[in-house]
Amino acid sequence: MNARQVQQMFLCVAEKMVASEEFLTEIDNKIGDGDHGIGMAIGFKGVYQELENKTYTYVNEVFHAIGMTMLCVMGGASGVLFGTVFISGIVNYPEKKEFVLEDFANIYVKSLNALKKRGKAQVGDKTMIDALEPACLGLKKAAEEGKSLHEGFAYAAAEAKRGMEYTKECKARFGRAKYYGEKAIGLQDAGATSVYLIFQAMSDWVN
Ligand code: ADP
Ligand code: MG
Ligand code: MG
Repeated sequence: MNARQVQQMFLCVAEKMVASEEFLTEIDNKIGDGDHGIGMAIGFKGVYQELENKTYTYVNEVFHAIGMTMLCVMGGASGVLFGTVFISGIVNYPEKKEFVLEDFANIYVKSLNALKKRGKAQVGDKTMIDALEPACLGLKKAAEEGKSLHEGFAYAAAEAKRGMEYTKECKARFGRAKYYGEKAIGLQDAGATSVYLIFQAMSDWVN
């Protein structure tokens, strides 16, 4: 995919995330402070405006623009968390005009590791990591098996969905949800839901 295609894909992702505001708010209402949908909508409205009329040469620039926008406009914990998802993967990554599945896998796995280091959450802690880790490792596995970009993105979205569902079984160790203890069992994590929606929207665009 060239920079223009990646830009178009994330414009589509941004639209879908803005449209998911109410759904995400509902989830965070049950288990957090109810602001996750608002935060994501603010972030992705900003992303849409930032990407809308720009021309990018390198795919790396698109990721940089998304991450910086989220860090700037969202504020709070999830601004840093989701900003990190888009920024840390491309730090020191060679600039490329086109990304193949392996490039996406490389930068997302780097981002995953940066986020785990920064937020200290592991799989099973009922956070966005529960969806992000299987999605990123799914991209890597698909790339190693020589799968097409379409197949790789579809597989990552399916893995993110599985991770999102898995958060229902877990007790939270981070964020406000940890005060819910056993009461959080059966409820899914808001951040993991956002991760799934992002990967699903990416897959929908390429497929
Ligand atoms: P806040 O908790 O500040 O209200 P949001 O509601 O926007 O922020 O985001 C909450 C989400 O952030 C959670 O659903 C969880 O997925 C994610 N999260 C919280 N703490 C961490 C952490 N340490 N590492 C990874 N993700 C986290
Ligand atoms: Mg919240
Ligand atoms: Mg909050």
